[in-house]
Amino acid sequence: MAKITLSDLRHSYFTKPKTPDDWALKQLDIEWEDGGAYALLGPSGCGKSTLLNIISGLLVPSHGRVLFNELDVTHASTADRKIAQVFQFPVVYDSMTVFDNLAFPLRNRGVAEDEVTKRVHEVAEMTDLTAMLKNRASGLTADGKQKISLGRGLVRTDVNAILFDEPLTVIDPHLKFLLRAKLKELHQRVNNTMIYVTHDQTEALTFADQVVVMNVGEVVQIGTPVELFEEPQHTFVGHFIGSPGMNVVPCTIESGSAIFGGRKIKTANKVTATTVKTELGVRPEFVSFAKTGVAARVVKVADAGRFNIVETNCQGHRVYLLSAKGEPIPSGAAKLAFDPENTRIYLDGWLGGRRVGS
Ligand code: ATP
Repeated sequence: MAKITLSDLRHSYFTKPKTPDDWALKQLDIEWEDGGAYALLGPSGCGKSTLLNIISGLLVPSHGRVLFNELDVTHASTADRKIAQVFQFPVVYDSMTVFDNLAFPLRNRGVAEDEVTKRVHEVAEMTDLTAMLKNRASGLTADGKQKISLGRGLVRTDVNAILFDEPLTVIDPHLKFLLRAKLKELHQRVNNTMIYVTHDQTEALTFADQVVVMNVGEVVQIGTPVELFEEPQHTFVGHFIGSPGMNVVPCTIESGSAIFGGRKIKTANKVTATTVKTELGVRPEFVSFAKTGVAARVVKVADAGRFNIVETNCQGHRVYLLSAKGEPIPSGAAKLAFDPENTRIYLDGWLGGRRVGS
């Protein structure tokens, strides 16, 4: 196992990058603690695979260093880094039995056969494959095959980290839940450093202790699932995480306070800068109907089981709120209140103008 440090990292697929857009990864400084469970979360094209390939050694970054336990491995091969990888599509040898598939990484490294048998049985037990050890892998379903991939990642005792690249993509939706829970349980049992790449917020939030949220080649926030929900550092995080995501509406600033819909809005933060894009961010969970507040009009009500998701038009902007079942919902004109503790001012997208790490 290892602590993994990415120091002053940047990557461009162009030999002579000119504009900021030419950088697939703009500037990264991250420390992944030994034994941590991390998720790398972001939309398609934000740089997740590029970052994962730099960590695994498939790609040498244009700039900066990769350290494993303080040792510079920037130019070391994947084999030398002792990295196990689980890909979107399980890599399984169909002609072999489940046992032989699990044993493969160990036999490849010349591990003694009695040790192989012991480790394979341990890992088969963890991944619920014990009953299938003698079966041919070809007969397994997609989730069974992905369990073999997982097992192969776990079977070695010498790995520094296990990297998962969207491992649940080909799994049936109803089995995803089970495998997600299994992965979390496995991390707790083996305590290996695990980095899980996904564009799915549910997968990231259920698996990881720390989630690294990326957007267009940049890390916008690193935090626990609760931190990402309660205090998004960037409007992108607020919007990307949550369902529906955070409401973001433009506002003006007067004496450090936000003005929206002609009213002063109480917020958790105050700002000084006024020369950039100024916005208010508030999650639907913290918007409510009130006697006094910003004028709005109810547009749509969607039944979400235990609550209703209410869409309003508030000063020309779409603002969602959650309303408990049985609570009265105005049929047209309404007034909205924003919970001050959970309403924030964002400057140019960043909370109070603050960037990650500053
Ligand atoms: P996805 O979830 O779709 O795999 P991602 O978040 O993993 O996306 P990357 O694949 O790392 O993102 O891509 C980041 C950026 O780098 C994108 O703009 C992509 O077009 C570009 N890119 C990725 N691989 C290459 C390559 N081999 N050559 C040139 N550009 C590339």
